[in-house]
Amino acid sequence: MRKKQFKAESKRLLDLMINSIYTHQEIFLREIISNASDAIDKLAYTALTDDKVGIARDQFAITLTRGEGTLTVSDNGIGMNREDMEENLGTIAKSGSLGFKQAMEKNADIDIIGQFGVGFYAAFMVAESVTVISRKYGEDTAWKWVSNGADGYTIEEAERELPGTDVIMVLKADTEEETYSRFLEEYEIRSLVKKYSDYIRYPIRMAVTKSRKTADSPEDSPEYESYTELETLNSMIPIWQRAKKDVTDVEYETFYREKFYDYNKPLRTIASNVEGAVSFRSLLFIPSKAPYDFYSKDSKRGLQLYSSGVMIMENCEELLPEHFRFVRGVVDSQDLSLNISREMLQHNRQLTIIARNIEKKIRSELADMLKNEPEKYQEFYAAFARQLKYGTVTEYGAHKDMTQDLLLFHSHKENKPITLRSYVDAMAEGQEKIYYISGESLERIAKLPQVQTLSKKGYDVLLFTDEVDEFIPQTLRSYAEKDFCNAATEDLGLQTEEEKKALEEKAEAMKSLLEFVQNALGEGVKEVRLSGELGSVPVSLVSASGMSFEMEKYFKRMNPDMPVPTERILELNPDHAAVKALTAATESDPVKAADYAKLLYAQAQLMAELPLEDPTAYTELVCKLMK
Ligand code: ADP
Repeated sequence: MRKKQFKAESKRLLDLMINSIYTHQEIFLREIISNASDAIDKLAYTALTDDKVGIARDQFAITLTRGEGTLTVSDNGIGMNREDMEENLGTIAKSGSLGFKQAMEKNADIDIIGQFGVGFYAAFMVAESVTVISRKYGEDTAWKWVSNGADGYTIEEAERELPGTDVIMVLKADTEEETYSRFLEEYEIRSLVKKYSDYIRYPIRMAVTKSRKTADSPEDSPEYESYTELETLNSMIPIWQRAKKDVTDVEYETFYREKFYDYNKPLRTIASNVEGAVSFRSLLFIPSKAPYDFYSKDSKRGLQLYSSGVMIMENCEELLPEHFRFVRGVVDSQDLSLNISREMLQHNRQLTIIARNIEKKIRSELADMLKNEPEKYQEFYAAFARQLKYGTVTEYGAHKDMTQDLLLFHSHKENKPITLRSYVDAMAEGQEKIYYISGESLERIAKLPQVQTLSKKGYDVLLFTDEVDEFIPQTLRSYAEKDFCNAATEDLGLQTEEEKKALEEKAEAMKSLLEFVQNALGEGVKEVRLSGELGSVPVSLVSASGMSFEMEKYFKRMNPDMPVPTERILELNPDHAAVKALTAATESDPVKAADYAKLLYAQAQLMAELPLEDPTAYTELVCKLMK
């Protein structure tokens, strides 16, 4: 019999498959099973209008048979005749395989194989030869197609009792690197079917060996015999395809735990069925704890993507925005083709529509939890607040509409975490700004003079203790048309015009004092000025760059070599007794006055939680003044 050659481009793909050392070889089974399922779909469809098909829906099945070194996948679907075999198995099918081949030729990352429906040829990753015996529905003759991949294929007449197809794969011999024989092990096949083909709509059956007590052996000394039984390996109907009302909470939870290997219950389960321009079902979960590697670079994100029950991607990142990447779940849409590559996905309009829809859904579910289940929300927030905050500040705040109302900050007045919305709604009469200030702990920040001053005025202050917090007002700039004000670095804007004018006049009158202090402190201090907003403390330190001290510390921690601006402005409270004493001393005892100035500067540093440059010198100074 004359061997026919594969078409040129098919040959290239075959070479890739045959020589593949790819770790995802296991997907061959998914591909062959999907083809079988498609073939059954076609016959089932024909049966709708053709009574002669004579197969009831529940008789359709895919059967896996393990032989001596062979694995056979059989179906009772539409089948192929000689021309179909020539056409379909001798050439690369239009869709998936071609895209795969092109991507491979562009020298793309080999990892893409797993994302493709590489089709029938995937069998050659694990098989040294493949035989296809098929009889097309409505025809009497069956045909046998045989190929060892490398040099073409033969087709000859064969026998098959009923319409359908058998794909017989003679597995490659085991090598040191690869054990192909594992694809004959019950456990391996079971787990591959579970992983990739669990939701194929037809039963995938396999004969499995079991053991039972022999009928005539006595109960007290039982004897066992083994027997084989056809078992259905797939669950067929995915939990997300079932109506919400038919699924119990426990079923959802069990599914979540098994699928995503999380020991904890999810905080919320979100099942939706969307019909429209793109129809899809999704089942999403909000976990209660972050996985241990959540904030590491390698942690995977994305949702599992299915197309009509077949898993096509394990972590589809395009479906989940970065700010909600803690969400786990699956999306299933029959509007997506199985043969879809990563590159194609990025420009896939259907996928973009699904992703947008999911993003909005997650946002509204979280908002609902915040409003109606505040305790649960606290638990969620403890685990994932950082991600929401990062999401708010990345890309210059492009995603703030999705996240800003989900953020919580500690309210000084309420002494609990509140939203920006509640802050603004509770703003005092005449208050124009949203005040915040950051520090290492709530107790310490609450004692800062600025907080005291604002509180006295009846204004609330948001106390920031997380190092990313300050990036948020800097990114948002305003919320509900109210500007943010960093109470540590910016003018609080509390003074009236008259008060400002009075302060200016005072500064003019105290000019020589300010110059004196400036000289006494030297280089380290860029400016010395008066402030009318210091309340009960004599001095306060402000950074000249406008960057708060907490931010300075943050940047230093992130990158110790980076030069961080550290110029300081010292503010004096003209009404404080200590400043008055200093003024008096400049007249009577300038040496002592210079020491006073240094002492006050050190106090300002301590209050700002900044380290003293020379603690020993400070201690000596205090002792000297006590003498
Ligand atoms: P794709 O499935 O992407 O079209 P494949 O290489 O997997 O590409 O398969 C090529 C074609 O071969 C299929 O489209 C189908 O027409 C035919 N085929 C493969 N397996 C079967 C089968 N079990 N029964 C009937 N036809 C099949």
